[in-house]
Amino acid sequence: MYSLFGWKVAALLVGANVIASLCSNPLAHSTYDVNYSELKQGLSSSASIYFPEYEPFGAAVIRWSNLSTPTINVVVVPGTDSDVFVVVNFANKHHIPFLATSGMHGSINTLGRMDHGIEIRLNQLDGVDISTDGKTARIGGGIQSKSLIDKLWTARKQTVTGTCECVGYLGPGLGDGHGWLQGHYGLVSDQFISFDIVLANGSFVTVDENSDLFWGLKGAGHNFGIITSVKAKIYDLTHPNYAIDTMVFSGDYVKQIYQLANELWVVNGTMPDGLNNWSYWYYDPTIDSEKPVIAMYIIEEGVNVVNATHTKPFLDLGPLIHQSKNGTYLDLGQWTGISLQDGPCQETGNANPRFPIYMKQYNPDAQAQVYELFRNATTSDSSPFSDALFMFEGYSQNGVKAQGNDVSAFAYRSENILAAPLLTYVPTGPAVEQAAYKLGSKMRTILDQGANEGNLKAYVNYAYGDETATSWYGSQPWRQDRLRTLKQKYDPMGKFSFYGPID
Ligand SMILES: Cc1cc2nc3c(=O)[nH]c(=O)nc-3n(C[C@H](O)[C@H](O)[C@H](O)COP(=O)(O)OP(=O)(O)OC[C@H]3O[C@@H](n4cnc5c(N)ncnc54)[C@H](O)[C@@H]3O)c2cc1C
Repeated sequence: MYSLFGWKVAALLVGANVIASLCSNPLAHSTYDVNYSELKQGLSSSASIYFPEYEPFGAAVIRWSNLSTPTINVVVVPGTDSDVFVVVNFANKHHIPFLATSGMHGSINTLGRMDHGIEIRLNQLDGVDISTDGKTARIGGGIQSKSLIDKLWTARKQTVTGTCECVGYLGPGLGDGHGWLQGHYGLVSDQFISFDIVLANGSFVTVDENSDLFWGLKGAGHNFGIITSVKAKIYDLTHPNYAIDTMVFSGDYVKQIYQLANELWVVNGTMPDGLNNWSYWYYDPTIDSEKPVIAMYIIEEGVNVVNATHTKPFLDLGPLIHQSKNGTYLDLGQWTGISLQDGPCQETGNANPRFPIYMKQYNPDAQAQVYELFRNATTSDSSPFSDALFMFEGYSQNGVKAQGNDVSAFAYRSENILAAPLLTYVPTGPAVEQAAYKLGSKMRTILDQGANEGNLKAYVNYAYGDETATSWYGSQPWRQDRLRTLKQKYDPMGKFSFYGPID
């Protein structure tokens, strides 16, 4: 919480700083040459305002990826839904750009287009209110995935969330949102029933299926407003127990592994509702000093041992390491290295670009070609990318496909695999940035050519940022037209255009 005294001092200091910079950056004037006491007076007592001179500011703007980050001059932490309404109207009145944040894991480089403005940090809006019939919940717009999972779990309930414990719930959900339970229920966004949202014009409205905006908010939702809360479907906890088999292979088996995955789950079969498969490539010299390994995770719900029909074909290939575990849904984050304690949940200062692509199936030849590039990049002595990770996510798609292709702005329900290299590096300057871009783009192009499906299909929530709106939201003209019409109607000035903007 800020003290009124501290806030006044901060405002004066900021004013002094700004006078010096007005000539060089006239836009900066619009951020500071305003009376923040006017904003403060309109906010609830549980709201906070942070200026750069005071410590909470630094912690409030730090992001998971340090590449092309937004420039923030002031952070406002709303305490209530109406505070969001107040701050958007204040920003509009003074022509100040603003950006909502929840989990701070957004990394698309279009965020860097924000060259000044207010961060509206939604973390205090983290309530979960379960309806009396137990079928829906009102969920705060700033809640983290893990917090939502835990609150529902206590009530013996669950819903589809992102898998990583530290990402926001709505950050992923507005761009569709993949999670362990999607095989049953569809995407995170398929659970949404209504949104309480502050729109670009400052109005505070509820959007449900009767509004044209409802379709766009589910898949391209970062473009239209700030969601203070969402009403979403929730479900009884029917299969709390889970089992996982982790097999770590030599990279020599790259073709056979993905051929098998195709045969078992994609080309000759489908991934059952309660099964998910991920694989990671990474260099771990303690296992193989010469090349990156391939770790396969086969995760099954409602069992204590993963069914041998899924594991035996892989075990027959002879993994270097094989481990079986069982526990509950709550263990999945730790088993797959994405719990609150794991690396991906820490802010390291690294740049973390990804180059995502959706694919219908694996192309084993393309996988092998990309593996070679990845091997060179992670093992050569002078490479800055030795900590890179290549992710292949094979979620169950049944619940996603059951919804029908056109129900939302998410265009890629017919795809089965989400792949992305994560080229984590220490951001030492443009040379390494360009090297990462070149390598990531090259690897993605090989997979894209191997998939041979035409327009690149990229998950907006993993996107690098150089992709086009047709790659994020689908190339069919009707999709682009519908999104452009919504954008023109609800955000004609492009106030919500820092994250995967619709053209
Ligand atoms: C380690 C890691 C694991 C991931 N795991 C998954 C996963 O399992 N499934 C998946 O689908 N994706 C996953 N992602 C991708 C994830 O969807 C995006 O990174 C997403 O942007 C993260 O949202 P956030 O709230 O954490 O980040 P933020 O940077 O806080 O938010 C991202 C953007 O969302 C918008 N936003 C957030 N909250 C609101 C709101 N209430 N109203 C309006 N706009 C809002 C803003 O435009 C903001 O710029 C993962 C990413 C990482 C880094």
